[in-house]
Amino acid sequence: MKILVLNCGSSSIKFQLIETDIDMIEADSDRTLARGSVERIGTDEATLNVTVPPHPTRSTTEEILDYQAGLTRAVAALKESNALADISQIQAVGHRVVHGGEYFAASVIIDDKVEQDIRNCAELAPLHNPHNLRGYYVTRKAMPQVPQVAVFDTAFHQSVPPRAHLYGLPYSYYRRYHIRRYGFHGTSHRYVAFRFHKIFGKAREEANLITAHLGNGCSMTAIQKGQSIDTSMGFTPQEGLLMGTRCGDIDPAALFYIMSKDELTLHDMSTLLNKFSGLYGISGESNDMRDLMAASARGDEQARLAIEVFCYRIKKYIGAYTAALGHVDGLVFTAGIGENSPPIRTLACQGLEELGIQIDEARNAATVGKEGEISSDASRLRVMVIPTNEELLIARDTFRAVRGLPNPH
Ligand code: AMP
Repeated sequence: MKILVLNCGSSSIKFQLIETDIDMIEADSDRTLARGSVERIGTDEATLNVTVPPHPTRSTTEEILDYQAGLTRAVAALKESNALADISQIQAVGHRVVHGGEYFAASVIIDDKVEQDIRNCAELAPLHNPHNLRGYYVTRKAMPQVPQVAVFDTAFHQSVPPRAHLYGLPYSYYRRYHIRRYGFHGTSHRYVAFRFHKIFGKAREEANLITAHLGNGCSMTAIQKGQSIDTSMGFTPQEGLLMGTRCGDIDPAALFYIMSKDELTLHDMSTLLNKFSGLYGISGESNDMRDLMAASARGDEQARLAIEVFCYRIKKYIGAYTAALGHVDGLVFTAGIGENSPPIRTLACQGLEELGIQIDEARNAATVGKEGEISSDASRLRVMVIPTNEELLIARDTFRAVRGLPNPH
């Protein structure tokens, strides 16, 4: 089945055309036929990038004023590059939807009720859900007969029990405003857990894992027998680890203090926490780990400090989730930093021998941007690098939902 996977943002559409079916899923032989993006939609300088492996990326700059035009151009580009003979070859569309609230614990075919529930969740993700829905409206219009499936970032974490998802606020806030931990990056955590089980030939009930998605946004998840039982992001993607520009865990009283001292508005404070904190905030220099590693190597103390805080926080969550799980079989690093930075993995795991974690430095150094084990033979936990592939999981979920097959967590 040829599936168009869409990730629609405020002014961009990222897309992949993936071919999958039950045998391909079993054999891990699904095919990414094309991938691309339309950026800066709404301007006369929008860029359209399409890559059809093994050919190089083709990029054009043109006027693309709305999503409708963006999708039309993306499909035309897929045809021009021979990835698609005609739009009628697209048999299903899978949409990344950021927030499924407490409505969705799995991927679903979008119908009127689902659409309404996604709209209800927009209040919890005002910067994402409306754009995700816009993608749905456009594809529904262009391909009215084609089934469309929503795959939620939050769905995997709906198994997190109340002891881990409730905040210590008056319970009425949970009842009235649904304030609780939702967690994000669920599709990524789920994908790397699936890969871990596959690599080691284990049923998902047979292994407990800690997964670390370390990209521009960062989160960690404790996975017991295939189910998320705790995760570091919370009501919003701001909680937990230190991130590129987000602060992660913080004493909420510090925010009131800063606001009163500097006379900041709610909007100012939100901008400070989202855009000017994290690695960028501490280093005062960059949110990009590559820049900070280079600066630290040159002796830049602020960059070194930012890296130290980043790694310490990961280490602390490994400890916390070891306690939550009781027994851990594997630790997985993924996303931009997790996949590509051996020194960060070393620092985050340093001193954790008591928890059964021993890194083999040669394996660690050799595992950059690819799947591989980085723990030593003596390590009790298998420590793995597994490149994430959220689009592939969206395509697989879409296939299974359309065929009426259960979607394994
Ligand atoms: P993502 O959000 O998954 O695309 O990850 C983005 C982050 O990955 C940025 O902080 C990049 O600096 C980081 N990253 C990418 N490549 C490397 C690398 N080779 N070493 C360290 N960090 C990297």
